[in-house]
Amino acid sequence: MGMKISDFSNHFNNLVEATIYNSLPSGLNIENFAIPVQTHSCNVKFIKQPGKYENVDGLISSFDYKIPLIISVADCVPIYIFDIETNFYGVVHSGWRGTKGKIIKNALNIFINQFNSKSNNIYIAIGPHIKQCCYEVGWDVAKYFKNIKKTKCDNKWFLSLDKEIIYDILKFNIPLKNIISSNICTYESKHCHSFRRDGQKSKRMLGILK
Ligand SMILES: [Zn+2]
Repeated sequence: MGMKISDFSNHFNNLVEATIYNSLPSGLNIENFAIPVQTHSCNVKFIKQPGKYENVDGLISSFDYKIPLIISVADCVPIYIFDIETNFYGVVHSGWRGTKGKIIKNALNIFINQFNSKSNNIYIAIGPHIKQCCYEVGWDVAKYFKNIKKTKCDNKWFLSLDKEIIYDILKFNIPLKNIISSNICTYESKHCHSFRRDGQKSKRMLGILK
């Protein structure tokens, strides 16, 4: 943390690397981490202690406490948020349910309304997830979203989770240049775990922000 603006894209590359770990990198002790027990909720919690947190899908902390935050994903969207001025940072797990419920708004409200982050200082990286090319959904899901494409012949719907999330981020006046979205599609990349591709045997990827 504490990176300069010019380091942003480098830092993002590090985050993407972190996202494709499938186990904790050696030398890291799980007891020092904060881990959300994810339930596809829209709950985000500010934390000062390592440990497991029940029924949350987003964690926020401050550099003061030096706690690495973890989320696990396989197709869902990992979102990394940091404020270059206050050194607050957060991770969010946003699948279609979290995106529909706007978990990203709950996280940004904590930054901006609770800890007085300025929109210009907030940087957001959206990690690898299942992209619109491969994310076919039924109308029961598609009906909640704006960023959907319909294929003409067979009535299929394709959802862009990152476009939905970016749309919600921009409502907080965070500049578009402060937002990066990975172009890696987890369904297509052999380096990524994909629940949709591999089913129940799919492993999870860990995103770590520290
Ligand atoms: Zn794809």
